[in-house]
Amino acid sequence: MDHKITDKIAALPPDAFYFSLEFFPPKTSMGFANLRDRLDRMARALRPLFVNVTWGAGGSTAQKSLELAEICQRELGLTTCLHLTCTNMSRALIDKALDDAKALGIRNILALRGDPPRPTEYSEEGEDKAASADGSDEPEFTYAVDLVRYIRKQHGGYFCIGVAAYPEGHAEESHPLGQSLEHDLPYLVEKVQAGADFVMTQLFFDQAAYAHFEQVLLEHPSGAFKDVPLIPGLMPIQNYQMIKRTTKLSHARIPDALMGRLDAVKKDDEQVKSVGVDIISELVEQVKEIKDRTRADKPKGFHFYTLNLEKAVSFIIERTHLIPPGTPDEEEAVILEEVAVVDDAGSGVVSVAAVAATTATTATSASGTRGVPSIRINGTAGSSNNIALSPLEGHPARRQSSIGSDPRNRVIVAGREPSQPDYEATALEASVPAEPVNTRSNTLAISEGEGVLGREATWDDFPNGRWGDARSPAYGEIDGYGVSLHMTVNQALKLWGKPTDTKDINEIFIRYLGGELSAIPWSEEEFNAETATIRDQLVRLNAKGWWTVASQPAVNGIPSTDATFGWGPPHGFVFQKAFVEFFLSSADWDVLRSRLTAPGVRENVCFYAINAAGDFVSSDSSVRVADSGTGEPKEASTNAVTWGVFPGKEIITPTIVEEVSFRAWSEEAFGIWKEWAALYPKNSATDKLLERTRNDCWLVNIIHHNYVEKDALWDLVAA
Ligand SMILES: Cc1cc2nc3c(=O)[nH]c(=O)nc-3n(C[C@H](O)[C@H](O)[C@H](O)COP(=O)(O)OP(=O)(O)OC[C@H]3O[C@@H](n4cnc5c(N)ncnc54)[C@H](O)[C@@H]3O)c2cc1C
Repeated sequence: MDHKITDKIAALPPDAFYFSLEFFPPKTSMGFANLRDRLDRMARALRPLFVNVTWGAGGSTAQKSLELAEICQRELGLTTCLHLTCTNMSRALIDKALDDAKALGIRNILALRGDPPRPTEYSEEGEDKAASADGSDEPEFTYAVDLVRYIRKQHGGYFCIGVAAYPEGHAEESHPLGQSLEHDLPYLVEKVQAGADFVMTQLFFDQAAYAHFEQVLLEHPSGAFKDVPLIPGLMPIQNYQMIKRTTKLSHARIPDALMGRLDAVKKDDEQVKSVGVDIISELVEQVKEIKDRTRADKPKGFHFYTLNLEKAVSFIIERTHLIPPGTPDEEEAVILEEVAVVDDAGSGVVSVAAVAATTATTATSASGTRGVPSIRINGTAGSSNNIALSPLEGHPARRQSSIGSDPRNRVIVAGREPSQPDYEATALEASVPAEPVNTRSNTLAISEGEGVLGREATWDDFPNGRWGDARSPAYGEIDGYGVSLHMTVNQALKLWGKPTDTKDINEIFIRYLGGELSAIPWSEEEFNAETATIRDQLVRLNAKGWWTVASQPAVNGIPSTDATFGWGPPHGFVFQKAFVEFFLSSADWDVLRSRLTAPGVRENVCFYAINAAGDFVSSDSSVRVADSGTGEPKEASTNAVTWGVFPGKEIITPTIVEEVSFRAWSEEAFGIWKEWAALYPKNSATDKLLERTRNDCWLVNIIHHNYVEKDALWDLVAA
């Protein structure tokens, strides 16, 4: 079977639709295992023409990206497009990636620049620098076009090459015209003329901007784009904060009318997701109309940035009829589900019943025999409450309640017994048949969250960045483009200058807390109203060189509609434990550690601490040492630090802190010190300061369990 994307597109009938799904390498091994199952399910249910695997800027995810690409191409047999960036990394790494891709049978590369190249070459010690092959000081890779040319030179026509485009213009502050499609255009033409075979766009929400983009490319006097597939990139809206951050980083505009719809429900994640499905589905239909005008005679493609989640994208793809037709057998499939049903009297007693339901009511055939599906949250259509319905009411039987379920929504593990039964389940326990129910229709229903299996497929549907569950494939930062300062060198230097003393670093953090700086290297998020309530406490910590990168105040049962602390549906109450995470010197850590493990304190706190070398200590290990007389090993702790209680729902715990996620995040946190140092000439005073500080400091997260005493944590760390 041919795995070149352009050949596959050329083989489609002119009126066909196709799409690709983008995934990033998960941060943890459990995330990897769960993504494999997810990919398998989505591939069978949705039938993408190809899948994309992202590449961390500067090669930061090289190994993991190749691992994921191997799973996609080799294990699952999916046509895979590996992303590859070319700046701030060695040529040897590019060569290796291309050779490895070839060895895996991968025929498609999305050739990207990555982060802007830094003035001083950045490479791991001992690695070849990506300097020019002719030995001059000019780096060989400055723009994506350099990579396109390089791949063509080294590998001829073996790879089908894609390049990125930006319907609203690429946001690069160095250009005098600012962000504009017209500025990028000559360079996009150059990329195509250098040998790119297809163009894939940045995410957008503004259909008018996309219509303009298509028109301009089609009418370009060079004729470069006439026969090149243009694949629009769309991102399902997963939650309000994420979309705000994504649009800020990508500089994609959300039209006011769309933003208004999201603003109206912004405190309720479920509603945001549901409105988000509507918005992106409408956008797909609008783009289809645009393509009917510009490229009526060609198959129409879409690219979805999945963020490693499946439910929203499954709804969008089904609702917009993008799934290619299957065999009649598949469409007639029957679901045999094991469902938990609440008894009619609503006593909360749960029984288990095996119920057969034809998929005619639950899944769409390619010809669209089913009505437009609406997003379901734990089995209820369009409602934020889990209302128990009898299977006899004419609806297909679904899991109607999560009463009695494990509140942590266990993760399915394959090929081994669960090592942590509280968090993991075998396929059998989760009611997954030994042989997968191998039809598209019921696989799709599962992806959309139907039934017991659906619950296992969508358990992590509300990720919370680094504060979510690290077993989720979606755990971590939003785009999988690796550790990055998310800005150009000039912007970074303007913000943070050239610190030469730790007091200068204190100053940067304090100015950020005071609203004078829009970002610190670890966060470009605006300082929010909630954190403002502990601003003074944070300033005091930063003044003594404890640089805070995350924190939250204690909250004890405030209405979910509260303007500062509220979240989730109305009529609920929200709670928080105070926590703070900061870097501090190893000398300060020694003192603080003995305070945290002293009797009277250690019962009230959990802490996790790690340094750049990977030395790790936590309250769990300290307690183990302290209690060694009992010989009882203590299980690693998990801390729910934000939770909400809402009518008709389980307790929701969007924010957790635990060892596995802390460790995964710490790699990134220490990586950011390196990224910051790389802005400055090697061996300059600032480079040396940042390198020395990184090597010496510890990253510590402290959680105080007494959330009723709102100052307890702050009094402890101030002492
Ligand atoms: C579909 C898609 C997937 C992506 N996947 C990843 C990923 O996996 N990992 C990752 O790190 N990033 C990824 N990115 C982000 C991408 O790396 C960044 O947007 C990066 O800033 C630009 O990359 P590019 O390939 O478009 O660069 P280029 O085409 O090199 O353009 C970058 C900028 O330079 C300008 N320019 C180009 N050539 C010249 C020239 N000769 N002279 C002057 N100016 C020029 C352009 O106008 C533009 O402003 C992705 C982006 C898209 C749209």
